[in-house]
This record gives sequence, structure tokens and C-alpha cells, in this order.
Amino acid sequence: MNSILDTIKSRDPGEKEFHQAISEVMDSILPVLDKNPEYRHAGILERITEPERTIIFRVPWMDDQGKIHVNRGFRIEMNSAIGPYKGGLRFHPSVNLSILKFLAFEQVFKNALTTLPMGGGKGGSDFDPKGKSDNEMMRFCQSFMCELFRHIGQNTDVPAGDIGVGAREIGFLFGMYKKLTNEFTGVLTGKSLNWGGSLIRPEATGYGCVYFASEMLATKNTTMKGKKCLVSGSGNVAQFTTEKILSLGGKVLTLSDSSGYIFDETGMDESKLKFIKTLKNKKRGRIKEYADQYKEAVYTPVDAKSNCNPLWNHKADCAFPCATENEINENDAAHLVQNGIILLAEGANMPTTPKGIDVVTNSHVLYAPGKAANAGGVAVSGLEMSQNSMRIRWQREEVDEKLRLIMKNIHKTCLDAAESYGTPGNYMKGANIAGFVKVVDAMLDQGLV
Ligand code: NAP
Repeated sequence: MNSILDTIKSRDPGEKEFHQAISEVMDSILPVLDKNPEYRHAGILERITEPERTIIFRVPWMDDQGKIHVNRGFRIEMNSAIGPYKGGLRFHPSVNLSILKFLAFEQVFKNALTTLPMGGGKGGSDFDPKGKSDNEMMRFCQSFMCELFRHIGQNTDVPAGDIGVGAREIGFLFGMYKKLTNEFTGVLTGKSLNWGGSLIRPEATGYGCVYFASEMLATKNTTMKGKKCLVSGSGNVAQFTTEKILSLGGKVLTLSDSSGYIFDETGMDESKLKFIKTLKNKKRGRIKEYADQYKEAVYTPVDAKSNCNPLWNHKADCAFPCATENEINENDAAHLVQNGIILLAEGANMPTTPKGIDVVTNSHVLYAPGKAANAGGVAVSGLEMSQNSMRIRWQREEVDEKLRLIMKNIHKTCLDAAESYGTPGNYMKGANIAGFVKVVDAMLDQGLV
């Protein structure tokens, strides 16, 4: 096992996020390999850690002043054992091969946990959407799709949104795909409602995360009602995590963006959340403006030199990191524990560092890894694909109920797998084991391809 990780590290030494994601899964699945030696003989670990296909391409575009820029576009087609590649597109300056390979790798297991027929992939660009006009966004998305279109398709690879890619970008991407292929198909998910999108898709990741958290709390005979929650981020996942916490009677004290965070001791309510949605989705402003609007809130800018994030250092019951990877380190985790947190559910992908995970799990905090807790988004993307194929639209309540059931099932699957491999209550091990076994069994059935 270590020698496989060493080979991966020496082949691609700079890909630290990818190595981090692999090593977490490998640690969990050791007992599975011991029980099933055929997995080792079939070279499963070597195969599952190597993308089936990696596509890198040039994305030239022109800004509003007529200046030409060149960004790099990527699509990682990681694993198609249980269905077409499926996973979001991220537009953020930090995007590189390591980050996309870690996200694609996580996506494979997450998609398996949903029980829907979806393989795993991820893509995006190092393009920075901040400060770009609508026209610049459109030109960039069109140029990006001019290459991506030849690699994707409703039965091949079905991208969606992620950081920096929301409803506006999916619209521009879909428009160019349709023009190039002369086909109106469900090739992207997260589409707008009036041209093929699914009800509840925008809400799904955040709602699903809180449904999962509620299942975890139920194992301790408690609920979200009255729970004080720390939420990070202020984009899609953070907004709908907040919305569901509020609707279940919980209290949200914090939100953030990459410039800083706000702490509102009085808690958010529907009208404050509406302000955030307009600020972030329409005005594309900064979280600081919340504290300008609501005097009871305190804004704290990011201190790049600090070894912790003060957002995680407030008295609370639950933590929902919903911004980005590695946003909770061991110091933050220690603060969470000292402040009496009982649950940490990851809306973002890999937001807790390995040492941070050790701190919370050693303190018996209920810990839900992103690949389980945030699987609601891709699950409803799967439901969007089904509706597109059948050319029908399910009602809001119907999709919401399917999402709730899927999250309940994932919760049970994680607990059952953890229990049967001797680590009862360990959601991280359970999620890794259950996702791994499903994908690997499909790979074995399909031979050496
Ligand atoms: P989003 O709408 O673009 O929002 C991202 C939020 O995180 C923004 O508030 C952003 O602040 C903040 N952020 C991004 N990079 C950051 C950084 N390096 N440091 C601090 N803050 C940062 O994206 P999203 O869709 O909510 O995604 C958030 C997380 O959830 C990601 O990890 C994503 O992979 C994961 N996820 C998303 C979905 C989905 O359906 N969208 C599904 C599963 C998992 P700025 O505006 O300042 O950049």
C-alpha cells in the first residue's frame, strides 16, 4: 500500500491535494483488502488512482478592453465503472491538476454512495471569475466549451457547477454546447428550470448536508432545533445549508468569503439570508457588506499569517465548512472541540486537514466527510439526468423527498460499512469502504480496461 502511494508521489511529486485524498481512502480500506485479496491481485489500487483520461487545453478569450488572455482548461475523467463520468467544473485561480484529481477521486466514491449510476470526473480552469463582466464570463465559457464539447456527452461525461460555476455559467456553457453539436440533451446538470433543470438542484448540496447532519444527531437522540451553527463560505452550498438549518430551527452565526468572515451573535433569519443571496448571486459583492448592513454583526478580515481561522473559534454546537479544501486545520479543530462542538459535517470537499480530522474524531465529535455529507448535490444532478432522459419534470416536494431518502440511505450505508469492518460510528471509514467496494466490484466485473 505504502509503495503504491510512494510510486504515485514520485511520479507526480507536486500533487499534494491528490496524495492527501488517496492516503485518506487507503488508510480506510486496508481491512477491505485483507478480507478480499482478489482486489490486490487485480491491481485495483494502481488502476483506481490513475485517471482513465486527463484532458488539458488552451482557453483563449478577450476581455472588455480587447486584451487577449489565455487560461488553462482541464477535465479529469477519473472512473466510469458505474456510469458516465460525472462531476463539477471549478473556475478559480487555484485550479491545477492536483486539485482537480483530488476532487475527481473523491467524486468517484461519492457518486457510488448515492446509489445512482454515475462514474466520477471533475474539471475547470484557473480562470478567476471575480470582477469579470457578464460578457467576459460569456466569452470565457464559450471558449472553454469550444474544446470541452468534443469530450463530453449525455452518455459519456456530464459536468455540473462547482466553485465559480453557477447557473449563469452553466447557461453560457450549455448554449455553446448546443450550437456546436446541434443537440439539446442533458449534457450538463444545474441547468435553469425553464430549459431542463431540476427543482431542488440549487438547494441540494446544502439541504442534503443538513439532512445528513440531522440523521447523525438522531443517533444521539437530538435534532437541529436550537443548535448554534458555524457555517463557512457564502456561495451555493453555504446559502442552502443556512436555509435548511434555519428551517429546522437551528441558529447560524457565521458566513465567510475568501476576504473574511462575519459573526452575527443574534443569528441569521430569512431576511438576512435573502440579503446574502442578492449580495452574492446578483450583486456579486463581498461578505463584509453584511456587517455594513447589520450593525449587530462583526466582520473580521482574513489574516494570511495566522495559523488558524477565527471563524471556528466561537461557542457553537455544529460546524458546517462550506467554502473550500483544507479550511479547518488542527488548530481550528482544537478550537471547535474546546468550544463544545458536537458535530462537524462537510459541505465542501475535503475542508478538514488529516490532522484536523484526527483531532475531531479523537474527541468523539460526530464527523461526516464531504463525500457522504455533500453527496446530495450530485444525487439531484443524477435525478436531473433521469428527468431529462424521460422528458418529464418532477415536483419540488417529490425531488426533495427523494433527496432526503438518499441522504438517509447514505447515512445508513456509512454506518453499516463502518460497523462491519470493525470501526462502528466512523463515518469516514464507512463512506470510503462502501464507495470503494461498489466501484471496485464493478471494475472487476468489466475486466482489465
Ligand atoms: P461557490 O458558490 O463558488 O462558493 C464558494 C464559497 O467559498 C465562496 O464564498 C468563496 O468566497 C469561498 N471560497 C472559495 N475558495 C476559497 C478559498 N480559497 N478561501 C476561502 N474561501 C473560499 O461554490 P460552492 O458550489 O458553494 O462550493 C463550495 C464547496 O462545496 C467546494 O468545496 C465545492 O467543491 C463543494 N461542493 C459543491 C457542490 C455544489 O453542488 N455546488 C457539491 C458538492 C460539493 P469568494 O467568493 O471570495 O471566492
